Amino acid sequence: MSGAVALDHLTKRYRLDPGKKVALDEIPTDDKAGWSKDDARPATAKLWKRLLERQEVLAATDTHALLIVLQAMDAGGKDSTIRHLSRGLSVGEAEVAAFKAPTDVERAHDFLWRVHRRVPPLGKIGIFNRSHYEDVLVVRVKELVPKAVWKARYEQINAFEALLASANVHIVKIFLHISKAYQTKRLKRRLDLPEKHWKLTADDLRERKRWDEYQRAYADALERCSTEAAPWYVVPAEHRWFRDLLVARIVVERLEALGLEYPPPTIDPKDVVLE
Ligand code: ATP
Ligand code: MG
Repeated sequence: MSGAVALDHLTKRYRLDPGKKVALDEIPTDDKAGWSKDDARPATAKLWKRLLERQEVLAATDTHALLIVLQAMDAGGKDSTIRHLSRGLSVGEAEVAAFKAPTDVERAHDFLWRVHRRVPPLGKIGIFNRSHYEDVLVVRVKELVPKAVWKARYEQINAFEALLASANVHIVKIFLHISKAYQTKRLKRRLDLPEKHWKLTADDLRERKRWDEYQRAYADALERCSTEAAPWYVVPAEHRWFRDLLVARIVVERLEALGLEYPPPTIDPKDVVLE
């Protein structure tokens, strides 16, 4: 594995510094930081193990929560990322929330209402499969609300996330970055496999025509909403084994940085006699 970027240095390559300009077309989608699949898979398995341990301490201490926000273009691999990361999570302490087009009830509230209710409580890990960012992405591209409304949302999102952070809900945001050519390849594969046809909708095919507009909307969201409290990571997602390594590392690092330890026992094990 000579030439590979060491795990300790890996994530900061992909973290967006607050205030930094984002040019997505200059960020490679097939980067693997010198790693090979053979080295990455066992390293990822070790990270999943550490993740399970950290999740247990998180539950035991019950004072902090972790929210993982996942965003991607269609066929970007959100579902498969969640499936893989879940190997390092025990389901009882983790919850996935998927956000689709809002229902009438949801639309009758402010855009953060449905999101806020799905934020993980202390002690838990939550994964958002799509999120409040759709309200500055699809909503902007499809012009579902006036410009002034979506424009105000970047600051509203930052304030919302700062509120969560101040309540010990730690946030990492992951954008799975793919190229249009890669999306074409994945969609063709879906067309070739009858069992994948259900995944293709007319809407997806229409939205694909607006690739550039979506990329611009993503660049703005990433640039305006990568904060110290809730940073965005741009994860090259075309090598799935590299994506899994990086996502696991980002999550483990965030949890380990909390420095949580098991709470002290409330009984002295020495005094316990079990009949
Ligand atoms: P995915 O497309 O994430 O793999 P899916 O195919 O199961 O999941 P869909 O029924 O396609 O789910 O729902 C996701 C769709 O909902 C996306 O096209 C997304 O842009 C749209 N969506 C999500 N949030 C909003 C929102 N706030 N306003 C409008 N549309 C939204
Ligand atoms: Mg869909």
